[in-house]
Amino acid sequence: MKLNSTQRQLVDLLCEHAPIALLVNLLLPILACIPLVHEVPASVLLFWCGAVAAVALARFFLLWSYQDFGFSDGEEKYSKWGYTYLGCTVLQGMAWGIGAVVLLSYTTGFNQTLVLLLIAGIGAGAIPLLGALLSAYTAFLLPTTVPVIIWMLSEGVTHYWVLAGIGSVFTWVCFLGAKRFNDILTKTISTGVKAELVDELNITNEELEDSIKVQQQVEKELRDRAKLEQVITTLSAGFVRLSCDEIENGVDRALAKLGSFAQADRCYIYLFGEEDGGSVVHQWYTPEAGARDDTDFSQLKYTMSLVKRSRTFGVESISQIPVEATAEQEMFKRNKLKSWYCVPLVMDGETRGFLSFDALENEVKLSDEVIGLLRVAGTTLVNALERKRVEGLMQHQAYHDPLTSLPNRRLFMEHIDRTYEECRRRKGKAAVLFLDIDYFKTVNDTLGHDSGDVLLKEIATRLKEGLRGQDIASRLGGDEFVVLLTDVSQDSVDPTQSTLSLAQRVQSILSEPYFINGQTIKVTVSMGVALFPARDTTAANVITHADAAMYKAKKTGRNAIQFFERDTQRKARMHLKTQEDLRDALEQNQFIFFAQSQVNSHRDIVTEELLLRWKSPQGVVKPSDFIHLAEDTGLITEIDDWVLNAACETIRQQKAIDHEQNITYAINVSTTQFQKKGFEANVAKALESAGLNGGFLELEVTEELFKKDQEVMARRMRRLKSLGVRIAVDDFGIGYSSLAFLKHLPIDKIKIDRSFVQGIEKDSENTAIVEAMLSIAQHFELEVVAEGVENNVQLEFLKSHGVGLFQGHLFGEPRPIEFNEPIHYTAAVGDYVLA
Ligand code: C2E
Ligand code: MG
Ligand code: MG
Repeated sequence: MKLNSTQRQLVDLLCEHAPIALLVNLLLPILACIPLVHEVPASVLLFWCGAVAAVALARFFLLWSYQDFGFSDGEEKYSKWGYTYLGCTVLQGMAWGIGAVVLLSYTTGFNQTLVLLLIAGIGAGAIPLLGALLSAYTAFLLPTTVPVIIWMLSEGVTHYWVLAGIGSVFTWVCFLGAKRFNDILTKTISTGVKAELVDELNITNEELEDSIKVQQQVEKELRDRAKLEQVITTLSAGFVRLSCDEIENGVDRALAKLGSFAQADRCYIYLFGEEDGGSVVHQWYTPEAGARDDTDFSQLKYTMSLVKRSRTFGVESISQIPVEATAEQEMFKRNKLKSWYCVPLVMDGETRGFLSFDALENEVKLSDEVIGLLRVAGTTLVNALERKRVEGLMQHQAYHDPLTSLPNRRLFMEHIDRTYEECRRRKGKAAVLFLDIDYFKTVNDTLGHDSGDVLLKEIATRLKEGLRGQDIASRLGGDEFVVLLTDVSQDSVDPTQSTLSLAQRVQSILSEPYFINGQTIKVTVSMGVALFPARDTTAANVITHADAAMYKAKKTGRNAIQFFERDTQRKARMHLKTQEDLRDALEQNQFIFFAQSQVNSHRDIVTEELLLRWKSPQGVVKPSDFIHLAEDTGLITEIDDWVLNAACETIRQQKAIDHEQNITYAINVSTTQFQKKGFEANVAKALESAGLNGGFLELEVTEELFKKDQEVMARRMRRLKSLGVRIAVDDFGIGYSSLAFLKHLPIDKIKIDRSFVQGIEKDSENTAIVEAMLSIAQHFELEVVAEGVENNVQLEFLKSHGVGLFQGHLFGEPRPIEFNEPIHYTAAVGDYVLA
């Protein structure tokens, strides 16, 4: 609590009246006791007089000691005195008020009136004695009158209630009177103080007013300064404690504080970049102002030249911008600024950027002193940001390879541990590829280490870009890289097979030529692969296993992929060999068809499905053993073409042999093939070159197709249908379960997958599904074939449920047909005999 000169005089007045107040408080209770002595016990009266007198004496001594406490000794002391005095005044009021309530309860008639008058008189009479300090008067008045008013209300008698009302109004009037008295006193004293000053300093009234204003301004600045100093102290102390992760938030909070302190609408940190420019790295703004998006400060040559010399650029209004600073003037207008301050951020004697304040609402003037403090605050912030940057850098260096910026062994091991846990949880598989560049030493020796480094960096870039998002590449040192394939068990493809595909992709990406320092280089890689978790491969030894496999790859003549585990290794070798053999198979025409019939309930053949087989030197291979591999290597396109053309040729031959037969032939079309642009044109061409009517051909597609763009698929199907070709949905019920496509797509037939047929007679769930499928088919007027019918029980069951067409071992397993070898149909359907 700080007193100005007027308030000091008011307290003096209070002190002057202290003896009168003491006298009133000592004498009045004694006088009042005379008439009351007949009704109130003497002990009560004595206690009351004593209480009033004791508090009055305490107050008197307090006022008396006021000069000793004197405000010149400091505000803290005064405020202690002030609160004690106020406390005593409340007690004084209570002594009167509560005392009066006690007396009222003993008295009646005249004596009661006397007590009420006494309280009214005390309340009003205290105005001149305590009115110098309104707070003191209020502290006295309320405890004096309020207890009496409450007592009157609690009596529950109407005329007491009226009296309580009068008492309340009286209290309010007394307060207003005291306020008025205080105003007049304050005004008189302050005019007097001013007049004294004018007299003493020999100045005019206006000059005095001006100097008061200056004084107030100085006081405000001092206050602001103290506040800012506090903010800065808290900031510096706070940032020391903040961990690196908390610094960003801390800086944002600090900007909010500094911005509001400077009465700005935005406060931001701009840090210079490596070249000419820089960027705003942190920004605070009011919701009305919004973020500042015009942050190309490099154009503001005038400001930048000042800031770079560690000087502040600050203007209260646009008129203060020097004429030569035209860019600044335009920037001001563009951003609708009223004031702008740009305080350099200096660290180790070098300007790193600036701390800036935009004022959009009001013009803001920041004194040099405040700006100086803001510089200190800015340095704290930039120091903290630098600490974060350095720690971040150290963290990065601790976990990354300095040459390629790829994760190092430490980080890679952490990823392996995490992946291992994940794989165990979801029962998946992951793999590590250990890569070593073949003859890297030669590159280093012939082209120099610099080129070698560029090559390693380029390899790192290709790995980063070529891998799937979830996979991680790392450099262990020298020319050794490792790749973690975090999930190789997707899409129900064999993990070894998908690892092999990914490894081959990496191999081919790295084998593309490199252009280094004007030279074209080609390198090959030897790769070791280890899948995990596996019988003896864990997170801890997977790299060692992949490394061991890589050594084997080197031994087998480099540019090779080698799997670690014996079983897997064998499988992988087999896959690799199969891929090569498939190529040969195409060249050497080793593909043939097997045919399997679809029959009606009279066992008449309605359709022949042509199933692909690969007649390899080792024996006949089923599609499930090579179709996926063919897809991975892209050979599927050629195989699909072969199937389409060979099927049309087969049909032609079969028709040529037996003109009478009225059978359609079905072929299986992969989703990839069906989706390919120009597929229907290929079909048309194949039909045409075989001189065939499209009505003999049926295409079996799977539900997977319906996940694709239905519009495009529908158009394609319609075009195929215009050729007379029929469309069947194979393996119906196991794939994409939306039935909407049945409505939208021109389908002729569905083939209930054999998984529903097997055990249908025992499995009520399967029965229900088949019944549902039949009713859907009926609704859309589709033909239904049950696949995989193996016995008569199934056949009878399906027949009784309304299935009309059947395919399965019961009617014959798929049998080979080759060109120029007609299928003979004997009376017993299914016994195909090669002619
Ligand atoms: P799919 O089209 O559903 O062919 C029916 C498969 O079920 C055939 O296997 C057939 O041998 C087998 N099967 C038929 N009746 C029975 C039975 O009663 N019991 C059992 N357990 N199996 C029976 P396959 O020939 O091995 O063909 C497997 C799959 O390979 C075919 O299933 C088809 O999706 C695909 N495929 C066959 N040929 C081609 C082709 O030329 N191109 C493409 N893209 N895929 C083909
Ligand atoms: Mg089929
Ligand atoms: Mg099928």
